[in-house]
Amino acid sequence: MTAPLGEFDLIARYFTRPVRRAALGVGDDCALLAAPAANEQIAISSDMLVEGRHFLPGADPDALGHKALAVNLSDLAAVGARPHAFTLAIALPEADPRWLEGFARGLFALAEAHDIELVGGDTTRGPRNLCITVLGFVPRGLALLRSGARPGDDLWVSGTVGDARLALGHRLGEWTLDAQTQDSTFPRMDRPEPRVALGLALRNVAQAALDISDGLLADLGHLLRASKVGATVDADACPASAALRSQPLQRRRLCQLAGGDDYELLFTAPPTERNAVAAAAAQAATPVTRIGRIDAEPGLRLIDASGQVLDNVYAGFDHFRTP
Ligand code: ADP
Ligand code: MG
Repeated sequence: MTAPLGEFDLIARYFTRPVRRAALGVGDDCALLAAPAANEQIAISSDMLVEGRHFLPGADPDALGHKALAVNLSDLAAVGARPHAFTLAIALPEADPRWLEGFARGLFALAEAHDIELVGGDTTRGPRNLCITVLGFVPRGLALLRSGARPGDDLWVSGTVGDARLALGHRLGEWTLDAQTQDSTFPRMDRPEPRVALGLALRNVAQAALDISDGLLADLGHLLRASKVGATVDADACPASAALRSQPLQRRRLCQLAGGDDYELLFTAPPTERNAVAAAAAQAATPVTRIGRIDAEPGLRLIDASGQVLDNVYAGFDHFRTP
């Protein structure tokens, strides 16, 4: 029998890669990074994935490695920051080489795709918990904030929303999806693609932005409060995949408006910038859809394609409120 994998062997084997940009990576008490250029700011954000809370026991480790970093990159995307480096604090019930290999594979594949490097972290035994802190750079004053929306702005969303919630409902037994729909929606839940290129392209175009993690309307609520404005949203304009369009209307609306785990960008821009928004979307090869407008009157008004007002029953996810 081979000796069990120790903490430091584990770090050396699975989480130590040559650094390209950092002056010093894994192995000392701190990592050392070059400071950003004088006209840049550091964007920094942490997101934690907890077993039983954010993912089900037995989840594919490769997908978890991807998702743990993806949800963090999504926060950099939301402010329009360029990914630079990240740290990983990880608690594991045991040092299982098979799990670690899969996790590291998913993690580093996405890290390489976005040119971000792992420079340090912490490793401990405990209930499975994955916490990443990402760091990026953004030119001073160009970060896209939640507080920048102005009355009259168009409201836009990237990609499509609702597929992750559709997949989750199947896994929770709320409804049953056919095999083809499972194949098209499970990756949206397990391997979200952070919209980093779009965030960068929108820097000089959008007024306000955030990423959708808790549900489109719930996250929009955060943006409206931060900007001290209201909005009118056309539920029927919200972009849906073909899989979601074939679902019953009430389920489709629930998934799109209150679903969460979408990691799409929600952003506002003045109507004079419509061509610039289209150019940014083309540059980032990411479709965007106009779903409403920002109003001076506070509150959120939900309508359908005919202009009929709908009840907003689409509360998003809240760790201490959602059962
Ligand atoms: P310290 O005792 O200073 O907290 P540790 O012994 O916890 O340092 O970690 C040793 C080195 O390994 C440090 O450079 C730390 O940043 C790095 N490290 C620990 N866990 C991880 C991890 N999961 N991923 C990347 N680097 C890690
Ligand atoms: Mg430590």
